[in-house]
Amino acid sequence: MQAVKQTANEVWVFAEQLEGTLSNVTLELIGAARALAADLCGTVATVLIGNQVDELIPTLFEHGTDTVYYVNAPIFQWYRAETYSRAFCELIQKYEPEILLMGATTTGRDLAGAVATALKTGLTADCTGLELDAGQKLLLASRPALGGNIMATIVCEKHRPQMATVRPKVMPMPERISGRTGTVIYEQVELREQSLKTKVLEIVREHSADTKMEDANIIVSVGRGVQNEHTLVLAQTLAEVLGGVVGGSRGAVEKGLVDDQHQVGQTGQTVRPKLYIAVGISGAIQHTVGMNRAQTIIAINTDETCPMMKLATYGIVGDAALVLPALIHEWTAALKPSIA
Ligand SMILES: Cc1cc2nc3c(=O)[nH]c(=O)nc-3n(C[C@H](O)[C@H](O)[C@H](O)COP(=O)(O)OP(=O)(O)OC[C@H]3O[C@@H](n4cnc5c(N)ncnc54)[C@H](O)[C@@H]3O)c2cc1C
Repeated sequence: MQAVKQTANEVWVFAEQLEGTLSNVTLELIGAARALAADLCGTVATVLIGNQVDELIPTLFEHGTDTVYYVNAPIFQWYRAETYSRAFCELIQKYEPEILLMGATTTGRDLAGAVATALKTGLTADCTGLELDAGQKLLLASRPALGGNIMATIVCEKHRPQMATVRPKVMPMPERISGRTGTVIYEQVELREQSLKTKVLEIVREHSADTKMEDANIIVSVGRGVQNEHTLVLAQTLAEVLGGVVGGSRGAVEKGLVDDQHQVGQTGQTVRPKLYIAVGISGAIQHTVGMNRAQTIIAINTDETCPMMKLATYGIVGDAALVLPALIHEWTAALKPSIA
């Protein structure tokens, strides 16, 4: 049997940032890394790659990282798999972390795949749970498998680092400890623009006035049970009254009620709002895996036995076309500013 090389007991997190704005998933992963590091009797380190993003370092410490490996150069101004993976691989070969976590975002997914391929190690994508077998120093990475019908726990026994990506909002945000500090290790990676295959020619910004669904506190989510345009407008109105956004199941996407950017679930987004109102959604596991961490869930459904009703904090049995106007009426009255 191939022996696993002894590595430092460090759990690493990739600090994903864009133009000096840190993604929340980085901080969520630092929280998850702290729990793993405690079981490992190790420490948490964050890898920050960019151009003049020093101001992010205190935030990383205050959310629980012990060490920041900081690679700072103009060549890292914009994310490129080629440059970031080279930097990552050099650092990993030098410091040999035990575990490496990245957000399952567009950037994190791209980078994690490139790093795992270059280092010939294992990567579990889109995990929903992370634990440690402390005796064997094995990361137990759980994720839905076989179309969401089972939860699989995946281990990487023979190669290091053990890598996993986790979607935003799956892990809770750790508490911020104001004034907490740690060690910054400045690293240089030799890369020349002329020898790179990928060039950044233009940055095209996406214009969106909408609150991003993953950041929304209130989501009114529609399903195939929303029978017509009129009921959809009612759901949109309810979202507006509550200051929330509209999401949907895959059933709703297939029916053309919402676009696929607003699909919640295994192949859509993972959300963790304060309030999730599921309108005409049956509650298939592929959907609930993306929303079951909502603080309060209200299900509106004609079928009182459907899985969403069992998951919900409150269930309203009835036709959405009749229930929604009543909720809009009640909430509009309740939220109307009182006149003294
Ligand atoms: C690999 C894979 C990945 C998938 N990924 C996702 C994913 O990311 N997200 C996702 O959502 N699904 C996903 N699915 C699909 C998932 O299995 C379900 O098919 C889907 O979630 C069903 O959507 P729905 O609940 O809107 O529709 P249905 O299951 O058809 O449920 C409709 C519900 O509406 C109720 N209803 C009917 N009429 C009314 C009415 N007038 N008023 C109120 N209620 C009413 C019904 O009782 C029923 O409960 C995936 C499937 C696979 C195989």
